[in-house]
Amino acid sequence: MATILCVLFPDPEGGYPPKYARESIPAIAGYPNGQTVPTPIGPIGFKPGDLVGCVSGELGLRPYLEANGHKLIVVSDKDGQNSEFDRHLPEADVVISQPFWPAYLTAERFAKAKNLKLALTAGIGSDHVDLGAAAQHGVTVAEVTFSNSISVAEHVVMTVLSLVRNYLPSHEVANYGGWNIADCVSRSYDLEGMEFGTIGAGRIGLAVLRRLKPFDVRLHYHQRHRLSEDIERDLGLTFHPTPQSLVQVCDVVNLQVPLYPSTERMFDDAMFALMKPGSYLINTARGKLCDRDAVVRALKRGTLAGYGGDVWFPQPAPPDHPWRTMPHQGMTPHISGASLSGQARYAAGTLEILQNFLDGKPIRSEYLIVAGGALSGVGAASYGLK
Ligand code: NAD
Repeated sequence: MATILCVLFPDPEGGYPPKYARESIPAIAGYPNGQTVPTPIGPIGFKPGDLVGCVSGELGLRPYLEANGHKLIVVSDKDGQNSEFDRHLPEADVVISQPFWPAYLTAERFAKAKNLKLALTAGIGSDHVDLGAAAQHGVTVAEVTFSNSISVAEHVVMTVLSLVRNYLPSHEVANYGGWNIADCVSRSYDLEGMEFGTIGAGRIGLAVLRRLKPFDVRLHYHQRHRLSEDIERDLGLTFHPTPQSLVQVCDVVNLQVPLYPSTERMFDDAMFALMKPGSYLINTARGKLCDRDAVVRALKRGTLAGYGGDVWFPQPAPPDHPWRTMPHQGMTPHISGASLSGQARYAAGTLEILQNFLDGKPIRSEYLIVAGGALSGVGAASYGLK
C-alpha cells in the first residue's frame, strides 16, 4: 500500500462543483510533435471538462487508488512548517503538486520525507521541487509533458494582443460607464509589422510562434538547441545566439524557458537596459525568471510598455505583491495551464504516471525530469541543476 499526498488548490468560493459554461470539451487526439495524449488504464475517475484540480476534484484519483488499496490524502494548506502538507509529508510515498498551487519541496522538506519516492507534477514545470535534492535522495521527479502546453500558448497570444491593443484598460472604461475613446486608444497599437521574439522555443514557445505567424509579425527566437532548418524556413525565424541579442531588436518578447538556478533573474536591470523603449514582455514561464522590482522599474521608466503573464513568486502571491498594482500590466493568477481542457489532460497523465509507478512499470521518458539520481528524459533536455 502506498500513501499519496496530493496538494491541490482550494475549491471555488461559491462551492463545488461550479456551474459549468459548457457541457463538454473537444477530445484532442495527439500533440503537435506526435507525442500521444495520456493513456491511463481503465476509467479516469472524472468527466473531461470537470474542475478536477481543486481539493474536491481530487484529480479524479480516489476511485482508482482506493480500489487498489492505496491511501490518498488531499490537502491545500501547504506553506509554513506546521502546514497540513508538512504534517503528512513523513508518511508520503508520492507527493503530487500543481505549479498553480505549488508545494515547495525544499531540501529541508526532502530531509523530512523519509518515504518519498516520487514527486509528481500534475502539469508542467517542476521548479517547485529542488531537483538537486531530489537527485540526492533518489526521488524520481515526473511531470505531464505537453498536457497544457497549448493552453499556455493560447494565453500568451491573448496577452500579447491584450497589451499591444490596450484591451484591459479599455474594457475597464466600458465596465464603468465611460466612453473616452482618446483614453482607450492613446496606448493602443497594431501588432502587425512588429518584431516578436521568444526566449525558449520548446513545446510552448514554438506553439506561440506558429500561432503568431498569421499576424504578419517578424519572428525571432533564442534557445539552447537550435530548431530544424525546415521549421526556421517555414516560420521565417531569425535565430539569436543570446537573449541579449534578441531583446535589442524585438518589440514584443516572450519568456518560455524553465526556471533553474542559472535562469533565475534572467531579466534584471541590465537586461531591461538593452530592450527597445516601449517593449512588451510576456512571462508565463516562471516569476523568478524576472527580478521582481526591476520589472516595476522598467514599467515606470517606459522601457516596458506592458508586462503580462500569470506566474509569480511566491504562489499564491501576497496581497501587496507589487505586480498586482504596477502600471500597464496584464497579470492573472497562475491560470494559463489550468483551463478545464488542460486539467483533463494533466489529471489523466497523473493517473498514467501513478499507475506505472505503483505497478513497477517504466514511466515514459518524456515525463521524466529526474530519475536514478540525475536529470533524465525530458528533464535532461530542458533543465539544468545549476
Ligand atoms: P520545453 O522544455 O519544451 O521548452 C523549454 C525550452 O527552453 C527547451 O527547448 C530548452 O532547451 C530551452 N532552454 C532551457 N534552458 C535554456 C536557457 N538557459 N537558454 C535558452 N534556452 C533554454 O518546455 P515547455 O513545455 O515549452 O515549457 C516551458 C516552461 O513554461 C516550463 O518549464 C514551465 O516553467 C512553464 N509552464 C508554465 C505553465 C503555466 O501554466 N503558466 C504551464 C506549463 C509550463
